[in-house]
Amino acid sequence: MLIVMKAQATDVEVTGVVNSLQERGLEAHLSRGKERVVIGAVGDVHSVTQSSILALEGVERIIPIAHPFKLVSRNFKNHDTVVDLGVVQVGDRAITVFAGPCAVEGRDVVLSTAAAVARAGATGLRGGAFKPRTSPYSFQGLGSAGLEILAEARALTGLPVVTEAMTPQQVAEVAEMADVIQLGARNMQNYDLLQEAGRARKPVLLKRGMSSTVDEWLLAAEYIVAAGNPNVILCERGIRTFSQRTRNTLDLSAIPLVKELSHLPVIVDPSHATGHWSLVGPMARAAIAAGADGLLVEVHADPATALCDGGQSLTPENFGRLMEDIELIARAQGRQVARLRQRQPQSTDGLTAASGTSPVPQD
Ligand code: PEP
Ligand code: MN
Repeated sequence: MLIVMKAQATDVEVTGVVNSLQERGLEAHLSRGKERVVIGAVGDVHSVTQSSILALEGVERIIPIAHPFKLVSRNFKNHDTVVDLGVVQVGDRAITVFAGPCAVEGRDVVLSTAAAVARAGATGLRGGAFKPRTSPYSFQGLGSAGLEILAEARALTGLPVVTEAMTPQQVAEVAEMADVIQLGARNMQNYDLLQEAGRARKPVLLKRGMSSTVDEWLLAAEYIVAAGNPNVILCERGIRTFSQRTRNTLDLSAIPLVKELSHLPVIVDPSHATGHWSLVGPMARAAIAAGADGLLVEVHADPATALCDGGQSLTPENFGRLMEDIELIARAQGRQVARLRQRQPQSTDGLTAASGTSPVPQD
């Protein structure tokens, strides 16, 4: 249930409602809009009568929520969530592009790919140190050593890093190094992992499960937000269908649908969605045209030698061309591709403050 406070409600009245909800065993989440405060009551709301809430000082009205998800719902928060990565924001009008290899395979290849994507205008570096592989015999990633390589690539390029945590135990280590904690498609319904990421002080990129509905995906995001982390970026990466010519089927309609249902930013991974580098550009362009807030794209300095997903990885040259196309599509929509700002000193909560401008280091 959402409790809409009167425009002139005082802080004491807001606290009164919060206390009253907590006394009834409910959690209260506040959304402070420009004009009024909305309080999301989470828990067993059936035991609470609407009239008893309406009787509290400062309450204007109650909106019962039709969706199973609450805190990530547009009803709870009407303005878009903007996730601040210090040097760039996700969910603003600008388009954020995370690019890099599927896996952190080694120092040289990651540093050269990171430099190349930075030169082409990427605003983030992707790369898995911990890799969820279908086969136990495939390359499993470099683990902690891979995180150190990503940190070096960030220091050289200024690009914020997104990398995956596969288990609750890995969350702290990944959160310590990364700017964004990625939760993969295979783990979208790993509830212990969602809750641990919800307790972390870094933003989370939540991929859609390969056989998950949009409601299940938003409920997974709800776990993270309900555990205390409001900074969630959703990532559509294609779903399983009968179509066998592509690795997955990109659900483009999920982009405007999620934007209708939720205030969270949504980006698209055209690489895992298609499985073929030649299809990545067209689907990336379509995703931006459909209103996505950004992209997560696999790029490799030499895809032919990649240890993981080389067939769907763009060369740096093709990635450069894609960035030019994206800029044109963005401009046609009155948007633009995001530019990196100067990295700010870390604040105590691990998130950085935004301001200033500086060019991307060129190598
Ligand atoms: C990835 O982006 O590295 C990845 C493993 O993708 P997904 O979880 O979407 O399969
Ligand atoms: Mn991959």
